[in-house]
Amino acid sequence: VTDWQGKHVTVAGLGVSGVPAAKVLHGLGARVTVVNDGDDARAREQAAALEALGVTVRLGDGATLPEGTELVVTAPGWQPDKPLFLAAERAGVPVWGDVELAWRLRGTVPGKPVAPWLCVTGTNGKTTTTQMLASILRAAGLRTAAVGNIGVSLLDAVLGEEPYDVLAVELSSYQLHWAPSLRAHSAAVLNLAPDHLDWHGSMEAYARDKGRVYEGNQVACVYNVADKATEDLVREADVEEGCRAIGFTLGTPGPSQLGVVEGILVDRAFVENRRESAQELAEVSDVNPPAPHNIANALAAAALARAFGVPPQAVRDGLRAFTPDAHRIAHVADVEGVAYVDDSKATNTHAAEASLAAYGSIVWIAGGLAKGATFDELVARSAGRLRGVVLIGADRALIREALARHAPEVPVVDLDRTDTGAMLQAVQEAARLAQPGDTVLLAPACASMDMFANYNKRGDAFAEAVRELGAGA
Ligand code: ADP
Repeated sequence: VTDWQGKHVTVAGLGVSGVPAAKVLHGLGARVTVVNDGDDARAREQAAALEALGVTVRLGDGATLPEGTELVVTAPGWQPDKPLFLAAERAGVPVWGDVELAWRLRGTVPGKPVAPWLCVTGTNGKTTTTQMLASILRAAGLRTAAVGNIGVSLLDAVLGEEPYDVLAVELSSYQLHWAPSLRAHSAAVLNLAPDHLDWHGSMEAYARDKGRVYEGNQVACVYNVADKATEDLVREADVEEGCRAIGFTLGTPGPSQLGVVEGILVDRAFVENRRESAQELAEVSDVNPPAPHNIANALAAAALARAFGVPPQAVRDGLRAFTPDAHRIAHVADVEGVAYVDDSKATNTHAAEASLAAYGSIVWIAGGLAKGATFDELVARSAGRLRGVVLIGADRALIREALARHAPEVPVVDLDRTDTGAMLQAVQEAARLAQPGDTVLLAPACASMDMFANYNKRGDAFAEAVRELGAGA
């Protein structure tokens, strides 16, 4: 346990992780300085509140390392090549993220049990899998919460009064980058596809950061059999003796794997009865929605829960009790025999590909901010299922060109407008292209910020447009 009394700690950035971190560190007796790039009204308000507690705040200068700093605590989103971190490195000052801080503060609250962490990362499916996991753990009667990148903050979970037996922890690649000493009970990397490469610098660096989630695992490293990169990360990780590599697959599982046999989720990794070779966990129809990628998420959650000793019935009960968050393959309505599905959360090509794979004949609404992505693979793999495409948003030309190359016969409506009415028109155009039995799928493969405040607002606009369409039908 670190002695915090009088320790000079610099917190990088006000905001959702910086402000609570500053308060906690100040409460522990550290001498805290917050440095923040911005100097707007909101920053000033937050600064005033912290200064009233005795925390020093420097606005408009997030680059300079304050004299005497012994530790930097950073918000996860801060890019590693920032001058502040380079200065820290030169001075030999450690940098911790919010997750590292929470990890180090485990066990410091007298009388509170120290909960092991079951960690989930990956390019897509993190939130869903973490929530499924929490639901399964709860069904097993364990005191738990979905924490980290979602729901309860890790600091609250570790320092708050609520006692937990185990935590279901969602971790982003940013958080893992800044969490060098984290050691999970067990962890899963769901999949690895290019995303956030601007932040990490390269695919290798991104994969390396994701792979940190396996470092020091005690019981199980859960990987995706269909995604070799995740298995490679397990192989490269330095784990505790006896820690097992556990695969999940949509096919028939091998030994030490969970998979699917004739519509049943089956566990061949954690079989209690030695005379049996497999343990039935749940039916595919227990998974909501039972789309392939989501069954994979359920298997990953089940693997982590089973590694923690959760019985099979709790896996089934937990999956049945789970409902996905909004804007993740949400069925909005059927209008004139056409299903309208909102997967606004499909903000990259890997996610969009998963949701396109879940349907037969699709009118696809796509576009937005591409974040440097290319669309050739996605379009080439999905072309056979496309009835038509409606393109919206700033980078739609990139998708249009990929469609011209790989799906020249698919009709495309290219909407050259970004105003608030654009989504209504997009839905109307999609309705014109669709035939009974089709699915109109909003899976933009892009970020939303060119047209909407966030993916929630984009999904809401879609649902609203579908309701208008239904009212007019
Ligand atoms: P994250 O927290 O990683 O962003 P979510 O659970 O919020 O993941 O899901 C985001 C989107 O990613 C979903 O709407 C869906 O389109 C897609 N998705 C979910 N799970 C997977 C998966 N296992 N593989 C690929 N895409 C997925």
